[in-house]
Amino acid sequence: MIDDIMSLREQLCEYGRRAVELGLVIGTSGNLSVREGDLVTVTPSGAALDRLTPEMCPVVDMGGRLVAGELRPSSETPMHLAVYETTDAQAIVHTHSVFGTVVATTMTELPPVHYNALLLGGVVRVAEYATYGTPELAANVRAAMAGGKRAALMANHGGMTIGATLEEAFEATRLLEWLCEVYVRGLSIGKPTILTDDQLAAVVERTLNPPPL
Ligand SMILES: [Zn+2]
Repeated sequence: MIDDIMSLREQLCEYGRRAVELGLVIGTSGNLSVREGDLVTVTPSGAALDRLTPEMCPVVDMGGRLVAGELRPSSETPMHLAVYETTDAQAIVHTHSVFGTVVATTMTELPPVHYNALLLGGVVRVAEYATYGTPELAANVRAAMAGGKRAALMANHGGMTIGATLEEAFEATRLLEWLCEVYVRGLSIGKPTILTDDQLAAVVERTLNPPPL
């Protein structure tokens, strides 16, 4: 178990660095976590994600009690735990990326302007605003994730994605940001066309039954 936790902590350091390198977070904003059984390893509160060391990352149980580590867990740990409780997530990435935050500040949802939105569950809802770190925000994000969504935006705050691994959750965050950028840039020159349910169903059908080689 200790070896597992060390490797999970190293993953948090690696993807924390990548999040900063890609401009998905600035300063000490954003937080990541990964689940192993009934334990969650999370980035610490108030630390720059590109300056983490493995031993800095706290481990909490599903009730939020500190199990290992000396630093305070991220202030958004209640949100991470709420999402783990109600989804099949094994990892969560939360950032304040620019285009995600723009959409979350002006819209109630991100419509499917590209078929890759299906990878996030189609329409991405915007969770209602609540103060960061509160049980209210955790409940709002959990509600926005209902129905098998892999992502949610958070009003006047940022975005959050889940995955079966930290790599998957991180790639979902990159995709969410890309979709938001496409939508925002589309709005700047015209009215983006939204894919219909039939068009999205045809994509699912083709993915499930690709043409023979
Ligand atoms: Zn945040």
